[in-house]
Amino acid sequence: MTRSAILFERAKAVMPGGCSRNTILRKPHPIYVERGQGCYVYDVEGVRRIDFANNVASLIHGHAHAPIIAAVGKQLQKGTAFTVGTEVEIEYAEHMCGRNAAFEKIRFVNSGTEAVMASLKAARAFTHRPKIAKVEGAYHGLYDYAETSQTARPENWGQPERPLSVPVSQGTPQRALDDVVVIPFNDVPRALAILDAHRDELACVLIDLLPHRVGLIPAARDFVGALRRWTEQNGALLIFDEVVTFRSAVGGAQQWYDVQPDITALGKMIGGGFPIGGIAGRAEVMEVMNPLHRPAPFPLYGTFSANPVTMTAGHMAMKLYDREAVERLNALGDRARSMIGEVIKTADVPACVTGRGSIFRIHLSPDAPENYRQAYLPPERAALLSAFVGHLFEGGLLMVETATGFLSTAMSERDIEEMADAVFAALHKIKP
Ligand code: PLP
Repeated sequence: MTRSAILFERAKAVMPGGCSRNTILRKPHPIYVERGQGCYVYDVEGVRRIDFANNVASLIHGHAHAPIIAAVGKQLQKGTAFTVGTEVEIEYAEHMCGRNAAFEKIRFVNSGTEAVMASLKAARAFTHRPKIAKVEGAYHGLYDYAETSQTARPENWGQPERPLSVPVSQGTPQRALDDVVVIPFNDVPRALAILDAHRDELACVLIDLLPHRVGLIPAARDFVGALRRWTEQNGALLIFDEVVTFRSAVGGAQQWYDVQPDITALGKMIGGGFPIGGIAGRAEVMEVMNPLHRPAPFPLYGTFSANPVTMTAGHMAMKLYDREAVERLNALGDRARSMIGEVIKTADVPACVTGRGSIFRIHLSPDAPENYRQAYLPPERAALLSAFVGHLFEGGLLMVETATGFLSTAMSERDIEEMADAVFAALHKIKP
């Protein structure tokens, strides 16, 4: 028995499924990490893998990045959590507001889930309306309203012109589901027809500009533009979930579009390796959280929010992720997608690659999906993908379960070449 297998047995005795988060699971058992350095992770068996998972997109500089370690080390000496404020929080808020003109004000929370939840609650408090709209199949964390309509069984999806608000977690209150309006991705006429039917009840429309569970295809310009116009004309807010996509440009993927949202939900990489979330947006909207002059319409608390260790790590990580670093990483992402495209051709396997900037996803189908329904994998195709990701893993690559990869600044061209070789070998293993 390997050390990882032994550890999994111990884990199963004390945690449901042997873990606190399902993302670590893989068959026959998860691996346990001994350490990470740069873009490499070493497991307890001593095996090195290139890390394209980066803690599910949350590490932009890889592991144990020296400037972050040094800054965090200094903060640790001063204490780790206080009931009162710290200057590092203000400094980091100033930095973040300086990255994007749409970030007039910001608040920090502890996870992407919390950031999305706070964004939705802020929108309700601002508009005094109950409903939210989201894209079918898009993942936005665990909040009841945000998590509907993904991983559902196809027979529950409803008609394409009227996707249903199907729950993910059993026992989700029907009242919550009734307040979620689901729209199809990149389908302007259908999306607008659905939104029109809820015109006076919608607090906001929530979208991810590169939703990974919807196939990791970018939101179309006309789709984003139409949602911006519709929300403006109908008194609703537009919320971008940039928990993953913020890495795309200095101020997030929204800078690829000429559109500013009212609120942006942030998380993952802005924590420099520590738990974080953020809500940034128009000052007028963010005022709903302001308790200085009256009871806040949306009181936002959080014991560990703006924790000084996270603020220090996040600020250092973001300072180092400047325009030059973003451009280099996006170019490396272009290189990764083009090399994957080449090995797919050479291996002659029906597959393709999607993504943009420093994110890619490999699909085991000749054509890229255009929406969640096309990206959905029935059990036998899901099993093939899982076997493929298993081969990548054996070949020395760590990726997330959908064969999605997130680059880090710790990677070089050589790591991308090594990745492409491993993809080629894995494709061969699944060749029909
Ligand atoms: N939004 C998006 C787009 C995500 O991918 C995730 C997590 O994967 C979340 C929100 C939730 O973030 P967290 O896991 O930090 O709660």
